[in-house]
Amino acid sequence: MSQTAFSSLNLHSSLYQNLATLGYQTMTPIQAQSLPPILEAKDVIAQAQTGSGKTAAFGLGLLQQLDVKRFRVQSLVLCPTRELADQVAKEIRKLGRSIHNIKVLTLCGGMSYGVQLGSLEHGAHIIVGTPGRVEEHLRKGSLKLNNLNTLVLDEADRMLDMGFKDTLDAIIEHTPKQRQTLLFSATFPTQIQSIAQRIMINPMRIEVASSHDSTSIVQHFYKIDDEAQRIIALRLLLGHSRPESTLVFCNTKRETQEVANELQSYGFCALALHGDLEQKVRDQTLVRFANRSTSILVATDVAARGLDIDSLDAVINYHIARECEVHVHRIGRTGRAGCNGTACTLYSEKESYKIARLADYLNQAIESEPLPPIKLLEQPTYKPNMTTLQIDGGKKQKVRPGDILGALTGKDGITGKQVGKIHIFDNCAYVAVNWDARKPALKKLEKGKLKGRSFQVRQIL
Ligand code: AMP
Repeated sequence: MSQTAFSSLNLHSSLYQNLATLGYQTMTPIQAQSLPPILEAKDVIAQAQTGSGKTAAFGLGLLQQLDVKRFRVQSLVLCPTRELADQVAKEIRKLGRSIHNIKVLTLCGGMSYGVQLGSLEHGAHIIVGTPGRVEEHLRKGSLKLNNLNTLVLDEADRMLDMGFKDTLDAIIEHTPKQRQTLLFSATFPTQIQSIAQRIMINPMRIEVASSHDSTSIVQHFYKIDDEAQRIIALRLLLGHSRPESTLVFCNTKRETQEVANELQSYGFCALALHGDLEQKVRDQTLVRFANRSTSILVATDVAARGLDIDSLDAVINYHIARECEVHVHRIGRTGRAGCNGTACTLYSEKESYKIARLADYLNQAIESEPLPPIKLLEQPTYKPNMTTLQIDGGKKQKVRPGDILGALTGKDGITGKQVGKIHIFDNCAYVAVNWDARKPALKKLEKGKLKGRSFQVRQIL
């Protein structure tokens, strides 16, 4: 029996059969190494990146142990961001869809507390949430973890980076001492090692070589003379290759906003993504980038986690990352799914030591290349082909993507080809339309009805 076949695991037959329907034929390296100890209820620390299949690694562990007849919270998964928590919950639901009556609940900040209270009263087996909100429910007594079997810390390094250490400690206080603890992290700073020592029992440590395909990602490095040249270099790189979707990484929140503002002032369509944004603005920013009506997203590593976008044309490191693993993770976001990606890194003399370290880590020589010609700055910047329309009706008003598409493309409407991605939230929806079709699209939505009602519509600029 192959060591990477799921059949080597002794999973419940319903879980096993469902894997085949999901198209999961063999285990990914992280699954092959971590699932055997996870299924033996051992504590595991695994170094794994997004895309490695880590969610199924712990998800299958939780589902195998689950006693669906006991309607108590048996597993808790903590994630740094709401987007990641949503993705994790979605994956667990998919993996567990053969289990009748299973309830997986997300508890994240930025969502209605009252609705969560109602859901908790109905009970749940598995909770996936962000630390702040989970701790709030524990403190107020609406969530109880007395029957918890397994605690998962997903992207533990990011949770610590975001300052959740005390919140995590407070949550762990509410869990039984006898439990399985699984910790997944892309990097292993000393803080992680010390938290692992405190909260885990004889954990097995698993490391899997980073799985990104570096051959499809072309890396370019540019040494800048001084700090004033950094933003110029960024403008030149963007203006030269004019990528449709670029993620620019900064090391601090403040810098993301400053860089986005500068780019906007030169006519680029750029937005900042960082942890201090209000939830609504954050949602809008993510939507506008995902639907290609914003071409540049300037983000910190923490904020970019959970960003679920598969086809980035370019990643630009405005500042090189502090750690080599983070660098590899950043550039791994481009060139996915067989697409060719470009990764550019700017660095100053002061940051040269990080370049030397990275060259060592990657085992390859790194040389600075000349920047595109400065006269490019005189050329007009480029704009995205799409723009976003916001509709003040969403899931609660029973608005569905098909309704929006139907309203836009009906009589005197725009063509289906001119409609891009549609995202529906609780009380609002966003639809991307071709820039040239925005006026008729707006008119159609304003005049027409969705679910028999008129909704306010506006273009987001
Ligand atoms: P993750 O690293 O958990 O975000 O997973 C990355 C992607 O891989 C998800 O879309 C999973 O659905 C998918 N995936 C996870 N495990 C497997 C597997 N064994 N075979 C095929 N796809 C998988």
